[in-house]
Amino acid sequence: MLKRLIGVGILLALTCAFARAEGRSQYTIDATLDGQTGRLGTVTTVRFVNDSEDVWEQVCFNDYIPAVQEHVQPGAYEERVLSVTDAGTGEALPFTADRDACLICVTPPAPLAPGDEMALTIACEADVPVAEEERFQVSSFDHRGGVTFKLCQFFPILCVWEDGAWTSHPYDFVGEAFYSVCADYSVTLRLPAEMTVIASGREECLSSEEGGEAVWSIEAQNMRDLVILASSEYVEPYTGEAGGVEVRCFGTRNQRGQAKNMLQYALDSIALFEELYGEYPYDQLDLCVTRMQTNAIGIEYPGLIEIWETVNHTRNRLGVLVSHEVAHQWFYGVVGNDQYDEPFLDESFAQFSQCVYMDKTLNWSRDSMARYVRVNAPLLPVDLTLGDYHMLGGDDYAKTYYNAVYLHGRTFLWEVKDAMGEDAFFEMVRAWYRENAFGVATIDGFISFLREHAQGAPEVESLLGTYFKRCAAQ
Ligand SMILES: [Zn+2]
Repeated sequence: MLKRLIGVGILLALTCAFARAEGRSQYTIDATLDGQTGRLGTVTTVRFVNDSEDVWEQVCFNDYIPAVQEHVQPGAYEERVLSVTDAGTGEALPFTADRDACLICVTPPAPLAPGDEMALTIACEADVPVAEEERFQVSSFDHRGGVTFKLCQFFPILCVWEDGAWTSHPYDFVGEAFYSVCADYSVTLRLPAEMTVIASGREECLSSEEGGEAVWSIEAQNMRDLVILASSEYVEPYTGEAGGVEVRCFGTRNQRGQAKNMLQYALDSIALFEELYGEYPYDQLDLCVTRMQTNAIGIEYPGLIEIWETVNHTRNRLGVLVSHEVAHQWFYGVVGNDQYDEPFLDESFAQFSQCVYMDKTLNWSRDSMARYVRVNAPLLPVDLTLGDYHMLGGDDYAKTYYNAVYLHGRTFLWEVKDAMGEDAFFEMVRAWYRENAFGVATIDGFISFLREHAQGAPEVESLLGTYFKRCAAQ
């Protein structure tokens, strides 16, 4: 939904993007969650078009639950795909499922030529893995009492066709490995009536039988992914509004203090990023406090953010974390990227944005900001893939990846801002956001864009040579 209109450029960009529904894949998902056993059944019908210039002999989907199952509960892996059918004819179709590659590949009745449209129905069943260390896996966990089911990557999602092949990455338990294009989602979810449903897009309880089952509907348009939290523990959210965006912050009874503070930080962040980057195109954003036992302290999904519970509710800690995750709505949610191959495009921008929040909203002094953005870790290129950081860092690859993409990446952007001047820099970022909204950006595209906007400034060229392997002097 187009929330409100500011500026002709944004108006045109967003109106066109929302009007292009016929080109987007459409997912209709019928899901049933057994609250006692954690068994999740999904029947996903996806309608899609071959929008490439190649013939598709097979159609591949990413499916992550088996990889997470194996990681979280070794030995628990089970074949989970029950059937794949042509949704038009009901004909059963041959498929292969590869747990390690996180792929389901289906052979259609006939190869799909460019422009061909098809709908497939994939029926799956699995136990939602019970996680001790909850991070970004599909999982269930408790907040010391009830249970919360986190349904992310819980259905087969169409892979991205690129350079004549289906893109797929191994599941990664340190950095995000997901890559998808915007689509429309319509979900019907059956689950125990005592659970609250919080999801990307808009959710509505259609019916609820006390002590029995509830049926919820979830609708999300033009979103890059869809995630659902279902919890028996969350109480009424704190709600507010910034620039036409409804923000809701959920927590358990014990987490209400944190949820209340998160609301203000999220509202401040939305106002700041709308002013600097451009409009947030959806009309709702949810934030949920969840339990954390790992180094990760927040995770973004389109329209839904998780912030782990913490005792430190200050603006300098919780506020900065919230600003990082909110910024991902602009960089990953709206301007998409291959998070495995080019994490610079979302993580460095989110880290940079949290610095902007510290500078503009928290009014950190110039000296404090300068100290904060200085990196003590050895310089590493910021434009490598998660797999490259694995190879470089070995057992310590989480740190290698963090130092490069989170620290050096954001420092690069900060230094470019200083070199170009704030006005020119943010004007460039606004144009970048506008031109790539709802699409997929690339690092090569960003470098060209930057060079064009910096008009050959030697300082910017020198920064590119310092931070980007592909720009380093031979
Ligand atoms: Zn991030």
